[in-house]
Amino acid sequence: MRILPLATTFALCVSARAATFSVSPQGAQPGDILTITVSPTGSEKIKAVGMSAFDTSLVKFYSRPDGSARAFVGYPFDRKGGLFPLVARVQTSSTEQTVRASFQGRTRDYPTQHITMRDSKTASKMNQKDALRNEKLLVQSKMKSSYAAPLWNGNWIVPCAGNATSAYGRKRYVNGKWWGQHNGADVKAASGTPVKAANSGRVVLSEYLPALRGNCVVVDHGCNVFSVYMHLSKREVAEGQAVQKGQELGKVGATGFVTGPHLHWEVRVGWEPVDPNHVVARGISF
Ligand SMILES: [Zn+2]
Repeated sequence: MRILPLATTFALCVSARAATFSVSPQGAQPGDILTITVSPTGSEKIKAVGMSAFDTSLVKFYSRPDGSARAFVGYPFDRKGGLFPLVARVQTSSTEQTVRASFQGRTRDYPTQHITMRDSKTASKMNQKDALRNEKLLVQSKMKSSYAAPLWNGNWIVPCAGNATSAYGRKRYVNGKWWGQHNGADVKAASGTPVKAANSGRVVLSEYLPALRGNCVVVDHGCNVFSVYMHLSKREVAEGQAVQKGQELGKVGATGFVTGPHLHWEVRVGWEPVDPNHVVARGISF
């Protein structure tokens, strides 16, 4: 058995932990939401938390009524399983300390999907790199900040009636060219089918975005959780409007980069897309 030098032993004895750090669930898969909690000990108060995880350089933490701070992190779909260390810098009322936790992630496999875009006009949209990039920057700019408390309540609903046709994470090739992994879920439904808010929140984008998304609505649900609805034939809400779970946002359509009428919807934590069907199945608890 290794004996610790005295100085270290002494330091361990006097440095009481000012905060604890946890991550759940263990055994998460890519596409899941990780819940991170920093709790103060004794009479300490959490002042600030600095943490990066995966592709997010600054994870956003939100205060809970019990004095702890909670953040959500999307486990990106292109990562393998393994043991992931998480490190945070926590500032409390009396001190600043580094806290560590880890979680065991599982590998997830996805099917490959080949899509053919016959319409040459639609297919040529694939090459509009600047238009695609500008559209993405516009959407990202609307999702930079989120309400600092949950606006959602209870379970999440699938926003539209129809058949689930393409699941989250599918590896997609369009006309033989790598297009990327599917960052949402598709529901096949006739044009004009109502599209409803998956949960309550506030509309932060309602625009026609021709390069990819078509008529698009983005709802902020608070605590950096957003839902996105694309390819609508009609939008029925405006930016800034509060919406209730189940409220109609618009109608299914075939606008933007599509082969036919369907709803593509996403749930994102910040900019990281997670599996919308996991959110419907498991909910998000703050
Ligand atoms: Zn889709």
